[in-house]
Amino acid sequence: MDQDLRRTWAQIDLGALEHNYHTLRAMLPGDCKLLAPVKADAYGHGALPVARWLEELGIDYLAVASVDEGIELRQGGVEAPILILGYTEPLWAKELMDYRLTQAVFDEKTALALSQAAVKEGKTLTVHMKADTGMSRLGLLCDEKDLDKTVETMERMYALPGLQWEGIFTHFSHADGSEEYTMLQFTRFLDLLKKLKEKGVSFEIRHCAASAAVLNYPCTYLDMVRPGIAFYGHYPDPSCEGLDGPGLQSLMTLKTRVVSVKTLPAGTAVSYGRTHTLDRETRLAVLSIGYGDGLPRACSDRLRVWVGGGYATVVGRICMDLCMVDVTDLPDVKPGDVAEVYGPHVPVEDAAALAGTIQYELLCNVNKRVPRIYTRMPKD
Ligand SMILES: *Cc1c(COP(=O)(O)O)cnc(C)c1O
Repeated sequence: MDQDLRRTWAQIDLGALEHNYHTLRAMLPGDCKLLAPVKADAYGHGALPVARWLEELGIDYLAVASVDEGIELRQGGVEAPILILGYTEPLWAKELMDYRLTQAVFDEKTALALSQAAVKEGKTLTVHMKADTGMSRLGLLCDEKDLDKTVETMERMYALPGLQWEGIFTHFSHADGSEEYTMLQFTRFLDLLKKLKEKGVSFEIRHCAASAAVLNYPCTYLDMVRPGIAFYGHYPDPSCEGLDGPGLQSLMTLKTRVVSVKTLPAGTAVSYGRTHTLDRETRLAVLSIGYGDGLPRACSDRLRVWVGGGYATVVGRICMDLCMVDVTDLPDVKPGDVAEVYGPHVPVEDAAALAGTIQYELLCNVNKRVPRIYTRMPKD
């Protein structure tokens, strides 16, 4: 269907993805691999089109959060290696092998179960060891107290039959804010690698840097990096943007349509709960987007959208499918006009700040009802 007939859509610029791919690639030493996280439907950009395009560009590895996300990519014809970062119940071991998915492993019990399943199938399952150096999420603990015990556990896991330990990784919790803590985590990771190596336990792909560390700490690159939000053209800490950033380009422009415009007298109440009463005669435009599309209701009465060559502020509560904006000062706005909700004029970071959240969440929240339209803008 032509986008001219749609009520709301997200335009995804694959040319910007290409630009970001080359920008990130150019930051890395030649032998450092580049992994693109495409979990959560590629941060809301559409996992399959994004993964296919990255594969064409030459991506080394992809990552997802679940086995279903991995299978979806394989069934869509994606051939690149895929790492599952999150939990997979060992009953899925056969699917992991059938679909050639690499599984992150963060405890011995799961390693044992996966090993037994692989042996039973007469196959080998590719796995990456996960170390917790201070994020306190997934991984075997690597703080000073637990390190020696973890080395012993990892040695046993490494010796299990049926598993090919291709990689080992950790994740930073504060690489967008604390150099001290990031270096503590990195030092713990290096200590772990050294102790493991002394026991003959080594890995081809050691990785730890997500976007923030890729942008801030080249010393952490090791054998592979995992920038997510940077691929989609956003900075983990929005305050970095435009300072000395590498010039990443945002992929998504969320657009909607004006479906009605009318002039209401001062004193009129607008939307559910009558939270807003007009203090002047107002031209109100109704936009065909609401929280049912992923626009946060917390932006009610605050978000500015770009329409008719200017900014119009949301008036009253955002509804499920619709919201109202004040276009009194934009006399040309008429039904059928396109409004930009997130994009070059309205950074998603601003909407996130209004909603008390981060750009990651708002991108992921643009939901299934909103069709993605893929374009490749020519780049200069
Ligand atoms: C999501 C994720 C990333 C990517 O993080 P960004 O901040 O988007 O770069 C990297 N590694 C792991 C383990 C993740 O879960």
